[in-house]
Amino acid sequence: MPIDATRPYDESNIFARILRGELPCSKVYEDEHVLAFNDIRPLAPTHVLVIPKGAYVSWDDFSARGSDEEIAAFVRAVGRIAREQGLVAPGYRLLANIGEAAGQEVPHLHVHIFAGRGLGPMLAG
Ligand code: 5GP
Repeated sequence: MPIDATRPYDESNIFARILRGELPCSKVYEDEHVLAFNDIRPLAPTHVLVIPKGAYVSWDDFSARGSDEEIAAFVRAVGRIAREQGLVAPGYRLLANIGEAAGQEVPHLHVHIFAGRGLGPMLAG
């Protein structure tokens, strides 16, 4: 069920629980501001989710309220993960769903990194 990205942060969302260590994840990368882990239902051979450790509902929320330090750390982490996974030469795709029209399901900002096969057209349908 897509979420309303304008609602306040829900501390019980699944990624908040992963950040608190209440649920496991297959960790790919971690630093002071960022955690990245494999998607539980991968849609490509590489499907990594990158999340800020701060409580941000969406890209909209993060870009408005995130500190410059958090935003820089997040952007640099996405690039670093892709480089470390060897994705730059073959190519990869970043995706962030924001709110209902995009079908965002988890109300904590996440960027998807897809790679490992031809990824097809930019949008389905
Ligand atoms: P969205 O549709 O919100 O952009 O993407 C949410 C993503 O989170 C989906 O790709 C879904 O497979 C993934 N996901 C949902 N629950 C879990 C979980 O408990 N662990 C992990 N690793 N991924 C999850």
